[in-house]
Amino acid sequence: MKNILITGGAGFIGSHTAVELIEAGYGVIVADNLSNADTTCLEGVEKITGQKVPFYQIDCCKKEDLRKIFTENRIDGAIHFAAFKAVGESVEKPLMYYHNNLLSFITLLEVMVENNGGAVVFSSSATVYGQPDSLPVTEDTPRKPAESPYGNTKQICEDILMDAVKAHPCLKGVILRYFNPIGAHPSALIGELPRGVPNNLVPFITQTAARLREELRIFGNDYSTSDGTALRDYIDIVDLAAAHVSALERMTGHNPDGSCEVFNIGTGKPISVMELVEKFTEVNRVPVRYKITGRREGDVEAVWADTSRANKVLRWKASRSVEQTLANAWAWEKKLRGIN
Ligand code: UDP
Repeated sequence: MKNILITGGAGFIGSHTAVELIEAGYGVIVADNLSNADTTCLEGVEKITGQKVPFYQIDCCKKEDLRKIFTENRIDGAIHFAAFKAVGESVEKPLMYYHNNLLSFITLLEVMVENNGGAVVFSSSATVYGQPDSLPVTEDTPRKPAESPYGNTKQICEDILMDAVKAHPCLKGVILRYFNPIGAHPSALIGELPRGVPNNLVPFITQTAARLREELRIFGNDYSTSDGTALRDYIDIVDLAAAHVSALERMTGHNPDGSCEVFNIGTGKPISVMELVEKFTEVNRVPVRYKITGRREGDVEAVWADTSRANKVLRWKASRSVEQTLANAWAWEKKLRGIN
């Protein structure tokens, strides 16, 4: 069995990825400092899979703490999620973002090189494309200068992995650029747990439907889109998690030249903010109060993925419908809040 270290494995994407990996026959070890997560989702992972997941509450910036994991376990690869992710906060606290997001990744790679290397998946984001000149975006669409320190850390970490894989033949790398991950596991045992007021659209919708928030603000309806609201590519979290299994498989054999490859992970289908809110209401038969406000600073008008490379090379494709995904998101929120 191959053992994979998941840094940031207690979070939203990390916990869903842990489930997919375990179900595909991998051993999973989770490292997380719980700065933006608690153990709820880890418990959920264990319930879903019926397996105990070794968990280390450590800060990945601390080399000694990471080394301990490699001493106590044989690690064949790592998926790196451990990072701060709030765009606005990164503008206010750039040094904290650069310190944490860069140092944790560099430290992980250093410790891997000390331990005979292995496969590395870096979790990047469509944010690296900014507002692209043409749509949909392929992996060869040029990256735009980052609009925030957060976005910049994603670009820099991509470059770090590319350079490290070139210099250290013991390392293999895949970069996954996620579009907008949403939803929850169909069991409703794991899902998104934002701390405080959610920044992202779907948790804000589910919390408004659950009456934790008075109303959703739709940031702008004056974009050049069919209904004026912004277009995004919303990808089911379980589909997205499954892409990590494909990425690991790609590195354990099929990539002929050993280069660090990049893949878009999305559905390829744009949906507007308004359409998403309407679909949520329709599928779940629950009202969501909203009002239109001004645009949010830093938002792009439209971005969606060309996923041909992932479809072909990783043999991976998003398969769940947005309706199913929105139903799962609501089931998770209801369970959290004790709503019937
Ligand atoms: N959005 C919104 N209201 C909210 C949160 C988000 O209208 O409370 C919009 C946002 O302006 C963007 C889309 O929803 O057009 C997706 O935003 P999100 O923060 O989820 O992801 P992003 O694409 O910014 O990474």
